Amino acid sequence: MALMTAQEYIESLRNLKTRVYMFGEEIENWVDHPMIRPSINCVAMTYALAQDPQYADLMTVKSSLTGHTVNRFTHLHQSTEDLINKVKMQRLLGQKTASCFQRCVGMDAFNAVFSSTYEIDEKYGTHYHENFKNFLTMVQDNDLTVDGAMTDPKGDRSKAPSQQADPDMYVHVVERRPDGIVVCGAKCHQTGSINSHWHIFMPTISMGEADKDWAVSFACPTDAEGMYMIYGRQSCDTRKLEEGASIDVGNAKFGGQEALVVLDHVFIPNEYIFLNGEYEFAGMIVERFAGYHRQSYGGCKVGVGDVVIGATALAAEYNGVEKASAVKDKLIEMTHLNETLYCCGIACSSQGFKTKAGNYQIDLLLANVCKQNVTRFPYEIVRLAEDVAGGLMVTMPSQKDFESDTVVGRNGETIGDICKKFFAAREGVSTEDRQRVMRFLENMCLGAAAVGYRTESMHGAGSPQAQRIMIARQGNIQGKKQLAKDIAGIQ
Ligand code: SF4
Ligand code: FE
Repeated sequence: MALMTAQEYIESLRNLKTRVYMFGEEIENWVDHPMIRPSINCVAMTYALAQDPQYADLMTVKSSLTGHTVNRFTHLHQSTEDLINKVKMQRLLGQKTASCFQRCVGMDAFNAVFSSTYEIDEKYGTHYHENFKNFLTMVQDNDLTVDGAMTDPKGDRSKAPSQQADPDMYVHVVERRPDGIVVCGAKCHQTGSINSHWHIFMPTISMGEADKDWAVSFACPTDAEGMYMIYGRQSCDTRKLEEGASIDVGNAKFGGQEALVVLDHVFIPNEYIFLNGEYEFAGMIVERFAGYHRQSYGGCKVGVGDVVIGATALAAEYNGVEKASAVKDKLIEMTHLNETLYCCGIACSSQGFKTKAGNYQIDLLLANVCKQNVTRFPYEIVRLAEDVAGGLMVTMPSQKDFESDTVVGRNGETIGDICKKFFAAREGVSTEDRQRVMRFLENMCLGAAAVGYRTESMHGAGSPQAQRIMIARQGNIQGKKQLAKDIAGIQ
C-alpha cells in the first residue's frame, strides 16, 4: 500500500472505535475536538512532509523488511546515516509544528523491540522476533502510527512490581490462555496515544524473577476491547475552546497530546506478544528504547528551539530593539545552546553500532548526555526568550478586547481602539502581528506548548536522574583512573 496522505491519516482515525474521556465525559467525535485536533494535525504533518518531494530523502526510506518505500517513522535504522537522518527529520518536524509530533515513540519502540526480541529468541527459542517482524511489516505496509507505551504508574517507587499493594501499578498478565494472554494495568502520560492506530506496550523498569507476570511486551490496536484513554490537561488548554480563538491560543494549528491509557482485561493474541515472562530482558528493552528516545530529543527539541529563537528575534524586531547588542548576544546564546543539543543528537547517531538483529543503535553514553542537556538548555532558552520579549507576553489583554467595539473613551474610542493605540508596535508592524508573536511565546514558554518544550524536556524519555545513572554506568571511571595511573607512574 502507498504512503497515506495527511488527510487519509486523519480520516483513518475516524474508523477506530477508540474510547476517549475528558472532563469526566466520553468524547464521541474526538477527531474534531478543538482541544485534541491540534495534536492530530501534528502527527498529520509526518504524513504531509513524506508526500513532499523536497523532503523525500529525509522522510521516506526503503524498508529493510519489504524493500518498499516507507515513512521513516516506521523504519528500522540500517546505518549510522539512517540514525543521523532520523535526527534531521525530527528537527524538521519540530520546525514545522513547534510541538511534539508524537510519532517518534513508536519508531523508537520498533527499533528497541526488534533488536531485543532477536536476543530473547536466541536464548529461549521463542518466536517473538518473527511476531514482531510480521507486526512491523503490517505497520509499514499500511503506514500506521503506533504509540510506544512504557511508563507505568509505578505506585510505591520503593517497591518492585510484584510487591505493590495494587498489582495494576505495572501492566501485567492476569491470565494465560492457549491462544494468548489477558493483561491489566495502565500507562501514564502517553504521548500521541489517542491518535495512534496501534500501541506497543513495553516494561518500564528492570525486573526480577518474582516480577515475571509484569515482564510483558505486546502490540494491540488502540480501540481494543477493554482499552480506554483519559486525556491529560495542559496549561491554558481551554483557550482552544473559546469562540473564534486563534491569537490567544498561541499556536492554533499544532500541539502535543498526553493521556492515561488504561488496560482493563485486554486480550492479546499470541502473534502480538514480544515478551512474556523472560524478566531478565525487561531492562534491555527499557535501556534501548530510552536510548533511542534520548537521541530523539537532540532533534525534535532543537527544531522547536529554532522556532522559539525565531519568535524571540521577531519580538525584538517588533519592539524596535533588534540592533541592541544585548539582544543580539542573547540570540547568540540561544542559538549556541540549541545547536549544542543538535551536536549531541548527531554525535550519538554517528557513533551508532549494529545490533545482533541487524538494525542500528545509538551510542548510549552520548544519547544520555544529549538528553541530560535537554533537561537544562530549553529552560535557559525560554528564560532568554522571556527576557527579550518582555512582560507583555503574559499581561496583554485578550483577542476579544482587541476586537471589541464597546465604547470606553470620551471621543467614542472602543476597547479595541484603545488596545491598538497603546500596544502599537514599531512603525510598519501591525499590532496584531505583535500580539501574535507575544502569545506564541507565552504558549511556548508557559502555555500548552510548554508541556512539550519544557516539562517534556525534563521528564520525557526519562527524568534527569535516569540519565545520570546511565552516564555513571557508561562513563568508565575505572578506565579513566588507569589513564591517570599510567601517566602519573602509579602501579
Ligand atoms: Fe517525538 Fe520529541 Fe515528541 Fe518524543 S518528545 S514524541 S521525540 S517530538
Ligand atoms: Fe517525548
